[in-house]
Amino acid sequence: MAGKRPTSPRSTASVQVVIRLRPLNDREKKHGTLPVVSASTADKSVTVIKGKGSHQARSSYGFDNVFTAFSSQEEVFDATLKPIIRDVMMGFESTVFAYGQTGTGKTHTMEGDLDNPEMQGVIPRSAKAIFEALKTPDYSHFSVSCSFLEIYNEELCDLLADPDSSGPKLDIMVGKNGPFCRGLSESPVESADDVFALMRRAQNQRQVGETNMNKQSSRSHCIFTLKIDAKRVLEDGSVLEVGGKLHCVDLAGSECAKSADLEKGNDSQAARERERKNINQSLLTLGRVVSMLKEQSQSKKKTNVRIPYRDSKLTRILQESLGGRCKTCLIATISPSVTAIEESMSTLNYAHAANGIVNKPVTTSFMSGSSSVSGELLKSSSGGGKNET
Ligand code: ADP
Ligand code: MG
Repeated sequence: MAGKRPTSPRSTASVQVVIRLRPLNDREKKHGTLPVVSASTADKSVTVIKGKGSHQARSSYGFDNVFTAFSSQEEVFDATLKPIIRDVMMGFESTVFAYGQTGTGKTHTMEGDLDNPEMQGVIPRSAKAIFEALKTPDYSHFSVSCSFLEIYNEELCDLLADPDSSGPKLDIMVGKNGPFCRGLSESPVESADDVFALMRRAQNQRQVGETNMNKQSSRSHCIFTLKIDAKRVLEDGSVLEVGGKLHCVDLAGSECAKSADLEKGNDSQAARERERKNINQSLLTLGRVVSMLKEQSQSKKKTNVRIPYRDSKLTRILQESLGGRCKTCLIATISPSVTAIEESMSTLNYAHAANGIVNKPVTTSFMSGSSSVSGELLKSSSGGGKNET
């Protein structure tokens, strides 16, 4: 069936915020670690129990969606990325973030196990869904490319660049469609398998950096981007040129935003101090941006507050995903363990703050005429269903 022309668009959409609770791991089970966080899919809430006996206190938080320790990779994809992919295929730019303490399942949610179809995370599932959509008669021509950017220590690294060549210096620039990373390679892909191959290459590159350059991958932010240019055939036979983008962001461990426990006696303590400060910079700025946007969206008056996007590389490059023109989903991952309770509360508060952010998503699509350059630019804003405010 041919696609429909975008109709009567709405103008805003809230950032969709979901929580994923991971199961207790084998080590925790062996040590008899108590689970103190529970999740309910029925009322989309997470409850944390603090203290014991008469000092016990319960805090409950509601979200757009909640996944329990029993939720499958498929369920997470179906409820989060699947509707986003539909938007991307209509020409929207969308971003999904994984935020949470190290070891809570950010990479499991984003990438999962590429070799086991049941355990694949949202990136491989998105790649498959995109190529499946492109194979339908709704699309006549397409080109898809991938990029993989790592931000470590406020420095940008191209995870798909040839490791033997120094490559161009990466820089964040602002183009007509918002910020982009100049010099970042965009590798063409023709199938989901091509995407998987690039993901494996990027994983290797990160491991090489971890060993050779003493990096810790939990301290870096990874931005995987799929860019789709396609001709969409509408019901009346006319052709719309769509340019959609999907960014999947696996953030550094949330504990990096404040952890001051530098390894004692380490030779490179000064380097670690610098690293910690810089990682603080990106995650702390992200936190500040999130809370200022929330304040702004709750304020009845039109305020002219400067949102500090420019204070870190991460927020500069993701500016359109936060209060901008992207459609955005935040997946916050938490541990059920009593030992992680402070960090889990901090993640829940962070996610709660992001719950009120409003974006103004925009599609970029051109009617194909005699030439795409002279085509009419259709800029339509659209709301995100129940998240509309
Ligand atoms: P992070 O990227 O947040 O540091 P990982 O994704 O690497 O954490 O997860 C840590 C470990 O826990 C991995 O072995 C992962 O497979 C496992 N894990 C995380 N979340 C889940 C989950 N929801 N179900 C099953 N295993 C999980
Ligand atoms: Mg990880």
